[in-house]
Amino acid sequence: MSLCLPPSSVAVVLGTRPELVKLAPLIHELGDATRLVHTGQHWDEAMSGRFLRDLGLPRPELLTGVGGRPRAGQIAQSLGQLDAAFAEDRPVAVVVQGDTNATLAGALAANAREIPLVHVEAGLRSHDRAMPEEHNRVMVDHVSDLLCAATEDNAANLRAEALAEERIELTGNTVVEVVRRRLPDEATRAALLAAHGLAPDAYVLATVHRPENTDTAEALGAVLAELDRIARAGTPVLFPMHPRTRAAVERFGLEGLLERLAVTGPVGYGDFLGLARHAALLVSDSGGVQEECTVLGRPLLVVRRSTERPEAVTAGFAALVRPGEELGALAREWLADAPERLARLAATPSPYGDGLASARIAALTAALADQRQELPQAA
Ligand code: UDP
Repeated sequence: MSLCLPPSSVAVVLGTRPELVKLAPLIHELGDATRLVHTGQHWDEAMSGRFLRDLGLPRPELLTGVGGRPRAGQIAQSLGQLDAAFAEDRPVAVVVQGDTNATLAGALAANAREIPLVHVEAGLRSHDRAMPEEHNRVMVDHVSDLLCAATEDNAANLRAEALAEERIELTGNTVVEVVRRRLPDEATRAALLAAHGLAPDAYVLATVHRPENTDTAEALGAVLAELDRIARAGTPVLFPMHPRTRAAVERFGLEGLLERLAVTGPVGYGDFLGLARHAALLVSDSGGVQEECTVLGRPLLVVRRSTERPEAVTAGFAALVRPGEELGALAREWLADAPERLARLAATPSPYGDGLASARIAALTAALADQRQELPQAA
């Protein structure tokens, strides 16, 4: 399908690993209309460089001086540079995804110059005002022109905040197509498991990086102590460690709790999906993993006090647990009945859509840009 968009005319603004993952299929749909702008919020080989390459993404325009600052500094640095870039070369539309500081900066930059704004993954709500991400997603939704809700619940959240019906579209979540396209084939997965010394359906894959699990020694210690107990009881635990988590382990002197875990740095996206596909149990506080587990048909314990993605819990893929004893008890229970649970989940459809979200969003973006260009522009 031809979208009739000029080359490099749709600015896709992102800054972190999950945005690269979720926006990749949309960027492919937009083709040479994409103008990729990376704020540099997570800018290194492990968290960005490898993902840009592996996901086949174009070389981005890179903002400077953003990474490593506190939240307001990141947003301010990004906003100033985005505004200058959009003033010099005005996009026909700006696309942002999710709830990061890059998402908010991209949204504010579009809003300031009255450029049509598309929010991918609109309408997620944790109702937890302690999370900066919750504030980011609410603010972005309220300034967006096209709200791409992944699920009916997400659309209902938007309506509950009196956002106009004509701005809301039910598109599904692009995670479905990215997982289907990027999951390595069976032979590659078998080699990957062999390289890690793992047997299918017989190990735990764990990731944690959220402030609620890494900001205090108590919380991080409680998560790691339970993973250590699982490993000591004989189930291997693979733990690809986020840079923030590694720094916290060192700061709190928790290295001893890592001794029985198979610790690596962050792994590439295809490897992560391949490893998740055969895990008996996933343990994570990641947003994206809550969606991916439903496409991969694997059970997930979400180590968080709230979630903006209740669909995976409702569909039976996931449960919310507190770090510590609650995590350990449910992990033991779910590992004990893994064969039945895995069979049941393999037959449960993902609540996140049909794998056509990115094609829908690309077409809606083109229509929005087209409609706006027909209106007289402010001087
Ligand atoms: N991921 C990855 N390698 C890893 C850990 C995670 O590719 O070692 C992927 C994971 O599949 C998901 C994304 O990174 O798509 C999640 O990123 P993160 O947890 O940083 O962000 P969140 O999803 O919580 O916003």
